[in-house]
Amino acid sequence: MPTQNDTALTRLRSIPRDQHSISRKGISPNALRVLYRLREGGHEAYLVGGAVRDLLVGLQPKDFDVATDATPEQIKALFRNCRLIGRRFRLAHVVFGREIIEVATFRANIDDGSGDRETHAGGRLLRDNVYGTIEDDAVRRDFTANALYYAIEDFSVRDYTGGFEDVQNRVMKLIGDPELRYREDPVRMLRAVRLAAKLGFSIDPESAAPLPHLASLLSEAAPARLFEECLKLFLSGNAEASFLGLEQHGLLPALLPESAAAMAANRSGALRRMLLEGLRNTDARVAAEEPVSPAFLFALLLWPAYCRALMALQAEGVHAAEAQRRAADRVTVHQLTTVALPRRFSLPMQEIWLLQSRFPLRQRKRVVRTLSHPRFRAAFDFLVLRQSASDDHAEDVAFWREAQQDPDHAIAAHPPEAEVEAGEGEGAAPRKRRRRRRRSTATE
Ligand code: ATP
Ligand code: MG
Repeated sequence: MPTQNDTALTRLRSIPRDQHSISRKGISPNALRVLYRLREGGHEAYLVGGAVRDLLVGLQPKDFDVATDATPEQIKALFRNCRLIGRRFRLAHVVFGREIIEVATFRANIDDGSGDRETHAGGRLLRDNVYGTIEDDAVRRDFTANALYYAIEDFSVRDYTGGFEDVQNRVMKLIGDPELRYREDPVRMLRAVRLAAKLGFSIDPESAAPLPHLASLLSEAAPARLFEECLKLFLSGNAEASFLGLEQHGLLPALLPESAAAMAANRSGALRRMLLEGLRNTDARVAAEEPVSPAFLFALLLWPAYCRALMALQAEGVHAAEAQRRAADRVTVHQLTTVALPRRFSLPMQEIWLLQSRFPLRQRKRVVRTLSHPRFRAAFDFLVLRQSASDDHAEDVAFWREAQQDPDHAIAAHPPEAEVEAGEGEGAAPRKRRRRRRRSTATE
């Protein structure tokens, strides 16, 4: 099998300190300590990966990774605050209070005949645990922008794959043959979109071309890993751009199959509008350093699927409350086969959906009960979002905003005249008041 770790691919370009923008001021003092200590110990030591890339484009890195020729045992001998982790590939974590500097020995991604590397028949990487040279370490990384090494010995940036120029040109480019690299690890498809969205980069045309027809490989990725990747895609402040990228490159149907189908079938485009509005909101919250929750995020991402399932069940004549419960369960169970949403998030997600049907119910007893529901606040925020996308819920929003201050005043100001209509009891389907009825609420 051909390998992309052909060293013919690599040619070192060293960018001296006066020709790049990385300053030690931008690097965490703990990462600097680790780099210097390794060097004093007689080892090579580099800052590598996302941190170098982010510093070059002027972003503050989230975390700092170090690559070295020292073995895990040699690293451990240098640092008292060091734990070795990982079975397949051993990494060192050097712990400074809440900050962890990850230190990895250069590793290769080649079949050296030792049996330490196994590849799945489809080309998927199952194990990769052979040590290698810095060149090997560079070419096993995913994108050229992620394969730059900042050397502590002379403050230069070492580039083996052309990443420095790609960062200047703001392009994400896979190292090696794109199709091969996506087959090895399909999550790289999501990383391409996510990192392009985060950095404002484009995806190199050759790296972008295989995405739509390889998208279905995502179903082979571990659902737990896809869940983590979803959180990074949508809760890191670039959710809208990430979503548009997923859509553009045909990845959405693989990641969120039922929501993608529901949006495609929704001719008015209201479902997609609401989702985008919600993602913009999420980005604004992240920018303002307000909390964002995975439960709310998935309530949003899967709302199109929920609405569609609900309508289908109601069309079959299933009673409203029962249809809501079944739609919520069905959507959750189906989504779990791709993205493993833990129960501690899927349960509140479902509550957010089911509470939507309580908002038209204005009898005092019900109002008080809804207000005291532990998920009320999230569900109300969700209602506000639905309103911002369709403005059919303006009256409900006004009522519940007031009710949070003074329920009796709100009830007096908005008498529950239309409630008889929702006479199917607790949890009845969301219904419009007759006066203002425009269209079926489920798809708003
Ligand atoms: P960020 O932390 O901003 O999400 P990152 O590039 O730092 O982005 P990490 O997941 O922290 O992403 O990975 C660190 C580095 O490890 C990457 O920069 C890349 O060099 C390498 N890497 C990560 N995931 C893969 C992968 N799936 N295939 C190959 N290399 C990878
Ligand atoms: Mg990182």
